Amino acid sequence: MRLRLAPVEYKVCATADCGGTYEGERCPHCHAAFDPTRGQKELADRLILVAVDPAMYEQTHRCRCPVCKNLFDLREENVVVRAQCHHCAQPLFSRTQLRMLWKDTDTLLQRARKLERGRRRLEVCPHCAGSIPLEPWCPLARTVPHASEVSGLPQNSSVVWVRTFHSGASLEELQHTAPDGAWGTVSEELTSTLDEEPTDAEQY
Ligand SMILES: [Zn+2]
Ligand SMILES: [Zn+2]
Ligand SMILES: [Zn+2]
Repeated sequence: MRLRLAPVEYKVCATADCGGTYEGERCPHCHAAFDPTRGQKELADRLILVAVDPAMYEQTHRCRCPVCKNLFDLREENVVVRAQCHHCAQPLFSRTQLRMLWKDTDTLLQRARKLERGRRRLEVCPHCAGSIPLEPWCPLARTVPHASEVSGLPQNSSVVWVRTFHSGASLEELQHTAPDGAWGTVSEELTSTLDEEPTDAEQY
């Protein structure tokens, strides 16, 4: 078990006048569930406990939108959806075209970027001639203006740490949610001495 300073992902509540920040599925202040099309995910450097079992935080990859800096998850299904026409649901590219498009790609992000380039070159669906909408991949683009000529896809993914919730409270929560009022006067004396240097009598 050790402490390390790590970039931790947190959510910003989108409820008007709330703006709470949290790591779970719901805002602890107004109890609204997180909506990735309205709420931003950001990064903060925090001290976290690592090498504990079960893990409190795990490393994952996120896309950071070059426009609004929102962090979002890129999934295979997002790429699958954009490989099809949104009018007639036919594939926009043949298998051969896809194989060529993706020939030197290793990651899902690289495939998404190549696919986006292909969509923009195509402009209309080869089956129904419907136009291919230019929608940024960042989920916040649905509520926050992003220019349509940007893909919202970064060059590289970012490594972030995300709370697992396999175990109880995090250090962050201990500092914010423990009710001070419940401790009474005995602990007030303790509180006033906690930031003092230990005396010679107290050998830790
Ligand atoms: Zn809230
Ligand atoms: Zn964005
Ligand atoms: Zn079509």
